[in-house]
Amino acid sequence: MQISFESKPQIRDWDFVVLLFYKYVKIENPTEFLENHRALCESLNIKGRFIIAHEGINGTCEGTPEDVNEYVKTVTKDPNFADMHIKYSQGTGTSFPKLKMKVRPEIVSLGLGQDDIDPNQITGTHLKPSELHSWFENKEEFEIIDMRNDYEHAVGHFPNSVLPKLKNFRDLPKEIKNLEHLKDKKILTVCTGGVRCEKASGYLKSQGFKDVYQLDGGMVSYMEQFPGQNFNGAMYSFDGRNVIDYDGKSHEIVGTCRNCGQKTENFTDCKNNSCHGQFLECKDCLIKYGKIYCKDRCDAHLNPFSRLFKRIIRFLA
Ligand SMILES: [Zn+2]
Ligand SMILES: [Zn+2]
Repeated sequence: MQISFESKPQIRDWDFVVLLFYKYVKIENPTEFLENHRALCESLNIKGRFIIAHEGINGTCEGTPEDVNEYVKTVTKDPNFADMHIKYSQGTGTSFPKLKMKVRPEIVSLGLGQDDIDPNQITGTHLKPSELHSWFENKEEFEIIDMRNDYEHAVGHFPNSVLPKLKNFRDLPKEIKNLEHLKDKKILTVCTGGVRCEKASGYLKSQGFKDVYQLDGGMVSYMEQFPGQNFNGAMYSFDGRNVIDYDGKSHEIVGTCRNCGQKTENFTDCKNNSCHGQFLECKDCLIKYGKIYCKDRCDAHLNPFSRLFKRIIRFLA
């Protein structure tokens, strides 16, 4: 079901609206598609990030209610995108510094090359947020696998969810061996907006997992309908907002500072400029020490001897 301005009238009262969407659909000429899409966004003063590939589009962007409404109307006029599920949340006007559009080989990558998963061929059963809610209510037996990266999980997640050690979504095929014990269980995969789970749930099925569901519209859709329920902490967002608190009231902070361990939802990026690692560092530590190294993603924080030693271990493993 499309959540629209008509079904969610409060959108009109927001100063800015952030959209999140994806669609796996064959795009014959991604470069041409990109040029047209860029012209549309520029004409409507919409900023954000878009990835376009032969397999579809993945995007998040921000604009005024009038402009995003116009954007959605134009995009969904194309029959290929008429049923695209678009998620709306309140923006700040500064969620994205600019408009970034890229053509890539895939909209999300499992690094499988030729063996990549096509969600139009194999994917998990879509479970509506309302259905998940009744699973929770009825204490149904199932396992949640959180397909997001560790830093997204750190600031908020469904309780008791399994977190494969993903520094990047591409790590899933390597991590699958650690999920073997769940092969015969009822599985629900979750991610922010659903785009990763289309492939992740398909990948689990291709690897012999028998009963695989994916959360339709992702965690943001669940949070939209059931704010603050069955969820610990806040929702990580890939834009200037860092976290989204759908609850509107004070939720429990579950994230902890990488440096001192105190509760925080303040994200920073690694001091090593070529790393781009995201992690939690509290404001006190940021004032006291400035940016620090992420430690587990890059080894710039190590002395040269430890760095060499770590490389050798990695080589031998
Ligand atoms: Zn700290
Ligand atoms: Zn780093």
